[in-house]
Amino acid sequence: MSVIEIRGLSKKFGKNVVLDNIDLVIHEGDVVAIIGPSGTGKSTLLRSINLLEKPEKGTIKINDQEIDLTTRSAREKLELRKNTEMVFQQFNLFKNRTALENVMEGLMVVKKLKKSEARSIAEKHLQKVGMGDRLSHYPRHLSGGQQQRVAIARALAMDPKLLLMDEPTSALDPELVSEVLITIKKAAQEGNTILLVTHEMNFVRNVANRIIFLENGKIVADGTPKEIFDNPKNQRLKEFLVKIH
Ligand code: ADP
Ligand code: MG
Repeated sequence: MSVIEIRGLSKKFGKNVVLDNIDLVIHEGDVVAIIGPSGTGKSTLLRSINLLEKPEKGTIKINDQEIDLTTRSAREKLELRKNTEMVFQQFNLFKNRTALENVMEGLMVVKKLKKSEARSIAEKHLQKVGMGDRLSHYPRHLSGGQQQRVAIARALAMDPKLLLMDEPTSALDPELVSEVLITIKKAAQEGNTILLVTHEMNFVRNVANRIIFLENGKIVADGTPKEIFDNPKNQRLKEFLVKIH
């Protein structure tokens, strides 16, 4: 079953065509990794799906509801926001809120849950990411890896249909990368549908079931890790893989 269907997504910044008529269908339980050179539109794609950018053209279907990305209404925005969650490179936690409060916020404000319900869901998700003993810590008292695990708990607590992650380990010190990758792997194994941008190729090979190579705003290759890494057919993809190894 498809979770999300993107059709004809195009985005320009001035004259710079960043996304060029992208079609993308993601199925339930898919873990899709987007790879590609810097400046190629990976972040813009994720940001467009989460309504942080406004494309010139494109529709997105989620929950069998089609939303025109150029003329979306407040109701459509809410529908999309309720179904997608984003984890950013820079964690983006609320600095003046504890780990627990960070996770409770969306549950109370967007999902309108009672405080007690929000707290119990938030605690459960923080425990899952190994942060059960840091509930009252403020972000400044957490390491980057811990902050990112809180951000992942915050996203998963909302039970999104699609979890978007934009280079979730790129801002971390090298020794903190693996704890976050383990957390993402666990989320993948639990059946969450994930679309992520990452340069961690070992992780991609082991955890993603599908890889998309984006270049100059176009999907140039789309296949399984085996197809992409072991038998790349596209010349540009081959060159990219050589460069990163
Ligand atoms: P990637 O994530 O693949 O590195 P991005 O999606 O961030 O690439 O950027 C794609 C292109 O769009 C780049 O050329 C970048 O400079 C440009 N771009 C991104 N955001 C903006 C913006 N807010 N204003 C103008 N240009 C932008
Ligand atoms: Mg980017």
